[in-house]
Amino acid sequence: MAVERTLSIIKPDATRRNLTGKINAKFEDGGLRIVAQKRVQLSKAQAEQFYSVHRERPFFNDLVSFMISGPVVLQVLEGENAIARNREIMGATNPANAAEGTIRKEFAESIEANSVHGSDAPETAAQEIAFFFAGIELVG
Ligand code: ADP
Ligand code: MG
Repeated sequence: MAVERTLSIIKPDATRRNLTGKINAKFEDGGLRIVAQKRVQLSKAQAEQFYSVHRERPFFNDLVSFMISGPVVLQVLEGENAIARNREIMGATNPANAAEGTIRKEFAESIEANSVHGSDAPETAAQEIAFFFAGIELVG
């Protein structure tokens, strides 16, 4: 097992409902440390670039609109196997398929407004962290 860092985003559906603290408790209780965190309003260009891997998908334009519909909380989470661990804590993309106790099961509104983003692999985690954070902002 290795200590990893992963990029997490608390999405606009969750910030709108004041769920930042409850979601952070799930991360911390699940063994992850929040080593950086900032609340921002993403621009359309930033959201399009962040999700560019999905640009050919039919849901892309709606996803970008959703991600800029309100503030998000950008975070770096650190811990043993943080990338996979975070995805376990988040639950499946579609809340209808998410396991009991996961963030998406408890809080997601729909497959799109599913409360959280988490990186899916070491390469994407490194890219996504660098997209939003400078090294000096990461305090382990
Ligand atoms: P995950 O966030 O679990 O890694 P994906 O990378 O496949 O999932 O998709 C990115 C985001 O796009 C999802 O979290 C969700 O907000 C949105 N999304 C995925 N699939 C759909 C879909 N079929 N319809 C609408 N939005 C979707
Ligand atoms: Mg993904």
